[in-house]
Amino acid sequence: MVVDAIHLDNSPEEQIRKKQLKNPFSTSHPVNSIAMDIPQIKAFNANMDGIMDELLPELEEIYKDIHQHPELSMEEFRTAKIAADYLTKHQFEVSTGIGVTGVVGILKNGDGPVVMLRADMDALPVTEDTGLPYASTTVARDAEGNEVGVSHVCGHDLHVTWLMGAARLFSEHRDQWQGTLLAVFQPGEEVGRGAQAMIDDGLMERFPKPDIILGQHVMVGEAGAALSYLPATASK
Ligand SMILES: [Zn+2]
Repeated sequence: MVVDAIHLDNSPEEQIRKKQLKNPFSTSHPVNSIAMDIPQIKAFNANMDGIMDELLPELEEIYKDIHQHPELSMEEFRTAKIAADYLTKHQFEVSTGIGVTGVVGILKNGDGPVVMLRADMDALPVTEDTGLPYASTTVARDAEGNEVGVSHVCGHDLHVTWLMGAARLFSEHRDQWQGTLLAVFQPGEEVGRGAQAMIDDGLMERFPKPDIILGQHVMVGEAGAALSYLPATASK
C-alpha cells in the first residue's frame, strides 16, 4: 500500500517540491526528514510477517466508522469507548473518563522505558462535503447552541485508528520489546483543553510517568516519509 503510493518522478518540479518538503517550517524550527526508500519499505513490510494483511482491513473499518461518527471537543464518548474496548481486548489495563473522555491504556512488559503514544479524538464543527460513501452527516450543537455539521477534517480519526493499530502490534509482539507502553487517547485538542484536562485529572500521578511522549499528527508530506518537528526551545 505504502509502496504503491510512491511515484518515481525525478522531474525538476518534483526536485523543487522535495526540497520544499524538507523544510516546510521557518529556520527557527529545526526539522528532520527521514524518507524510506522502496527496498527499505519492502524489507520493513516483510518483517511485519504478514500481519498487515489482516490488520489494515480491520483498521480501515475502524477508520471509516470513526470518520462517519465524529464528535465535538470534550464530547468524544463514542470514540473513547471504541478505543478503550480495543485496548482491553488487547490486554491493556484501561482507565476511562480521564479529563472527561480521555482513555489511558497501560501495557507493562518488563524493565525498560515508559513510552507514551498519544492520539487526539475530537472533530471540528465543519460540514463535510466530500461525497465519500462514508462521509459524515453528523449534526450537533456547539457551545453557543448553534446547529453545526461535524467532521474529521483535521484527521483525528486517523490518529485514533493508527494508535489502536500500534497498540495491537505492541501487544502481539511483546517478545520484541521491553518496557511500559502507555496508549493515551486525548479529548479536546481543537479547543486546547483536553491535554490540560487529563493532566488536571492526574495523568502524571495516577499512571507511570513517561520518559518520552510521541504525539503524532497527520500533515501534508511525501508518501513514505516521516517528519519530526521540534520547537527551537525543545532542541536546546
Ligand atoms: Zn488536529
